[in-house]
Amino acid sequence: MGTAAVLERLRLVDHHCHGVVRGELDRPGFEALISEAGAPPAGLTNFDSPLGVSIRRHCAPVLGLEPHADPEQYLQRRAELGTSTVTGRLLRAAGVQAFLVDTGFRADELLSPAELAAAAGGTSREIVRLEPVAERLAADGVEPDEFLDGYATALAAAVAASGAAGVKSIAAYRVGLDLDPRRPARADVAAAAAGWLRGDPGRAGHRLDDPVLIRAVLWTAVELGLPIQFHAGYGDPDIRLHRTNPSLLTDFVRAVPRRVPILLLHCWPYHREASYLAAVYPHVHLDVGLALNYVGLSRAAAVLAEALELTPFGKMLYSSDAFGLPELYHLGALGFRRTLAELLDARVAADEWSAEDARRLARMISVENAARVYGVECSL
Ligand SMILES: [Zn+2]
Repeated sequence: MGTAAVLERLRLVDHHCHGVVRGELDRPGFEALISEAGAPPAGLTNFDSPLGVSIRRHCAPVLGLEPHADPEQYLQRRAELGTSTVTGRLLRAAGVQAFLVDTGFRADELLSPAELAAAAGGTSREIVRLEPVAERLAADGVEPDEFLDGYATALAAAVAASGAAGVKSIAAYRVGLDLDPRRPARADVAAAAAGWLRGDPGRAGHRLDDPVLIRAVLWTAVELGLPIQFHAGYGDPDIRLHRTNPSLLTDFVRAVPRRVPILLLHCWPYHREASYLAAVYPHVHLDVGLALNYVGLSRAAAVLAEALELTPFGKMLYSSDAFGLPELYHLGALGFRRTLAELLDARVAADEWSAEDARRLARMISVENAARVYGVECSL
């Protein structure tokens, strides 16, 4: 059996994604979810992008339209079928057996992990985002000198309540990855908490952006011992891109015990730096989710090939980083299967790899690596 056929039959593990929007979407609502920038500039449309073209090419047929249907036709068909039918069709087309779902962003608008799994015919586990746990603690009221212990209790409770398979940090968004790698002293945490809690929380509440508290939160997570995901690279305009380079995290990576897996998410355009970190530190893993969807199928193979230049084969994972739209799960899975098959088949054709090695690597990246790192049960 060729690699493409093997990949077609494998049901993937998507180790980083979010939920699907519950309600109906009008055109502005849909367009806002196919760009990291949100709404398009006046006079332009987000459909005029690699991702927009991919939706028309590859999602239209799943909804019973011809490939390349125009945006109006596509959205009209979506409205005719209704959200739950569209969600079910596209999620099932993705062929994913297990979803690890980040519930830390706009969760009230999205299907829960259990609802997502039910719509897709798979299973799900939650990933708890570290920063909102601190923000909820502040909203509930905590004394500065109780912040550290209060956070440890709150994080353990959040993980236990959801049966989470891992945690995630968006330190890249809040302070950048060039953070002081040391565990902060208790007195320093209390002093930082006093300053942070005294500040004006604003309408959205306290947003955890104090560098000492971010370190306190990260080291609490390290003690918990679950896999820690880090946002790295590409994201919405809330990041400063140069501060999301995962190589900035090197000293922290070196300080974390090797038993705690670190997962670098997305990484583009720093996927080569991430690949280096995975090559030299035993507990570092990565994916190029999000990027594969946004560069479109024509360039996804180049990005994946670069990410695999150094990455040991047991350290690369699949993710869609889908948020909001079921289209993004389908396209993520389609792009990943197709580009990985192309890349592996080329190596077999060049007589560099055996066909069995290609099939084995496909199984590792698609399923086995995530199952091992997160301890989730999966089938091949
Ligand atoms: Zn994400």
